[in-house]
Amino acid sequence: MKTYDLIVVGAGPAGLCAALYAGRSMLKSVVIERGAPGGELLNTELIEDYPGFESIMGFELSERMAAHALKFGAEMLTDSVTGVEKREDGWFLVTTERGAQLQAPAVILTAGGTPTKLDIPGELEYAGKGVSYCAVCDGHFFRGEVLAVVGGGDAATEEADFLTRYASKVYIIHRRREFRASPILQKRVFENPKIEVIWDTVVERIEGDANAVKHLALRNVVTGVTSQLPVGGVFVFIGFRPNTGVVKGHLEHDAAGYIVTDDVMMSSIPGLFAAGDVRAQLTRQITTAVGDATTAVIAASKYLAALKDREAARTAQPVGSS
Ligand code: NAP
Repeated sequence: MKTYDLIVVGAGPAGLCAALYAGRSMLKSVVIERGAPGGELLNTELIEDYPGFESIMGFELSERMAAHALKFGAEMLTDSVTGVEKREDGWFLVTTERGAQLQAPAVILTAGGTPTKLDIPGELEYAGKGVSYCAVCDGHFFRGEVLAVVGGGDAATEEADFLTRYASKVYIIHRRREFRASPILQKRVFENPKIEVIWDTVVERIEGDANAVKHLALRNVVTGVTSQLPVGGVFVFIGFRPNTGVVKGHLEHDAAGYIVTDDVMMSSIPGLFAAGDVRAQLTRQITTAVGDATTAVIAASKYLAALKDREAARTAQPVGSS
């Protein structure tokens, strides 16, 4: 069993920023991440909305954030967290897939989210054979092909624009007649001659041969008309499900499963903080993730100091007093 002041679960922008601030606060901390550090940054080609960086590649910002955290003494553990449980003594026990056990009086959950699936026939069957959830990872496999993107948010519009670097044409299939994406991303889509939007339409089935996706079965939700769209691949960007399942016990969350925190990022479990995409909030940006993480570490630091004061007062009580 390894003991820390603070355990950070996840090494996306929030986790790496938490590691940086924990180091600077002289807290003995560890960041546990199942993959490479960076989280969603690794699924983002170009970042143009992080102050100080007019334009930076997602992987480069990840590397810089990780190096910055390491410089301040962050300990990184590559493993998958399987449980975060508050024990009766008030400390958290964190367990991992490889059997590690770690304990700390405070935990910051920065585990991000998992892409939402369409849950339609063919989606699972063609995963990796034309169905993708990551344009940066898979876009280059589709040079010169016709692609479809499903969704109408920031991710769908941004990634559709990105995919036109490789594809001859990109259809965005959206279930309504209006995007929820930010105006600047919508503008890029409407100005991109390689993108065509198919409004009011859902994908009912993904079909193909034994090796690859060949077409999508579509249905217009207003007219009911069905059609077939020939494509070489389909990229699904219909939201994220927050990765909160590792927390044992009741944790207050919103209707979509995002963790509800107070204004210092503390969840309904005292000592368990949340930052970044796992947290219920207006928007999920790199800037908000690092802001959350900064607040969470400073709040965790005060929480730890208060615990120490309480423990000192308890042990200082004269024998026989209650
Ligand atoms: P999102 O904003 O929740 O958008 C999800 C989109 O998918 C919506 O258009 C939604 O349609 C559609 N959708 C949901 N379920 C569907 C289904 N079963 N079938 C078909 N369509 C479905 O998710 P996101 O785009 O992944 O973005 C998540 C967060 O990350 C947002 O806060 C976003 O601002 C942020 N983000 C920011 C950037 C950036 O600023 N560069 C890039 C990516 C993500 P309706 O509109 O009809 O609900």
